[in-house]
Amino acid sequence: MPLLEMLKKRGFAHGVHPPNNKDVTQGRPIRRLAFAPRMVVPLSQHLGRPAVPLVHPGQEVVRGEPIARADGFLSVPMHAPATGVIEAIDLMPSAKGPKAESIVLRVYAGDNQQVLYGAPRELDTLSRQDIIEGVQDTGMVGLGGAGFPTHVKLAVPRQHTVDTVVVNGCECEPFLTTDHRIMLEYTEALITGTRIAMKAVGAERAIIGVEDNKPDALAAIRAKLPGNGLISVEAVETKYPQGSEKLLVKTLLDREIPSGGFPYEAGVVVQNVATLAYIGALLPRGEGMIERVVTITGPGVKKPGNYLIAVGTPLRFVLEQLGFTGSANQLIFGGPMMGTSVASLDAPVTKAVSAILVLTEDTVSEEPERTYPCIHCGRCVAACPLHLNPSQLGLLAAKREYEVMAGHYHLNDCFECGCCSYVCPSGIPLVQYFRIAKSINRERAA
Ligand code: SF4
Ligand code: SF4
Repeated sequence: MPLLEMLKKRGFAHGVHPPNNKDVTQGRPIRRLAFAPRMVVPLSQHLGRPAVPLVHPGQEVVRGEPIARADGFLSVPMHAPATGVIEAIDLMPSAKGPKAESIVLRVYAGDNQQVLYGAPRELDTLSRQDIIEGVQDTGMVGLGGAGFPTHVKLAVPRQHTVDTVVVNGCECEPFLTTDHRIMLEYTEALITGTRIAMKAVGAERAIIGVEDNKPDALAAIRAKLPGNGLISVEAVETKYPQGSEKLLVKTLLDREIPSGGFPYEAGVVVQNVATLAYIGALLPRGEGMIERVVTITGPGVKKPGNYLIAVGTPLRFVLEQLGFTGSANQLIFGGPMMGTSVASLDAPVTKAVSAILVLTEDTVSEEPERTYPCIHCGRCVAACPLHLNPSQLGLLAAKREYEVMAGHYHLNDCFECGCCSYVCPSGIPLVQYFRIAKSINRERAA
């Protein structure tokens, strides 16, 4: 048996093995995309309260300057993604559909777009509270897709003790290679960010979990580990959805995050590799998050790759640079399992967009999707990594028994990984049903 096979952590039961489709972009180094002439910065790119504008139309701003402040603890600020002049603060198209309050920036074409704003910090002198405040000042949110403010995850309640930071380098979604390239190219920043996270939560060790289909990333990280043994890297089995917080913690530490609970209740804080690499780069320089790495791939794009893109760049501009002749209904922000369809080509790339998947007419059917009745084959039950009963949940959803789904069948534990829909031979869009059921329950509770 090969050494990697012997060393890797096996992990959780169930899950699926979809074709990974990463070959096209995983070997392509990160390249910067040109600055768009006009950028749109939504005030809400995160879970929590929208940011509050600090600027007005006609005001000049320099790249990296704060343009909106956080509105309380569960919120993050926004920074100018380019040097230019504020054109408007208005409702603008968003990826989800409804227009969103945004700051519109006209970019100065002749500017060299250096970051001119920053307040450097000496890491060794920062207290835990200084780090949490400093991370909030960067405007960082989880770059894996959820958009949860990073500083909130680092603020562990006093009554809980965290001994381990788990760093998520799995990137188990098909097509996505953003985290893979960051582990290869921003390795030192990742180690710095990991040290910062350990200090913020008071953890004595960190484990970076990487799927074993990325041996180059495992080797790159191993080569940069500090010699004190406090940070380690472990290969984990390549299987979807290995990158979910609950499953990765189970795989690496054999600990359970309680149902409806937080990772710190299991003594853990989980952060994505890209998030920590950005913290490692931005916090010491005291700069804001104004750009991110995005995998752009799929059969409908001529120049696929991993691109450094300014936050607020309109999707239409991105696709014009890379060659695309299609429409918005062929685009997904994120991967095919958990990503969301894009409602408008005028929507901007925001902080939580890890990938743009560009499909073609022959990969997106014009026909309405056909589904058949449940044949009780049990494949969804065998696939669900949380051991839920998607078949039963689907039948209850069809009867609109949403409260029974939550009360008796653990609907709220479902993290919408899509394994059940992926394996269903009847084509039942189970995960869509579960999203609708949860949102209706949330509305009823409110
Ligand atoms: S979407 Fe929910 S129910 Fe379906 S497999 Fe994933 S966790 Fe289980
Ligand atoms: S996989 Fe589809 S058809 Fe089979 S039991 Fe589940 S819902 Fe029914």
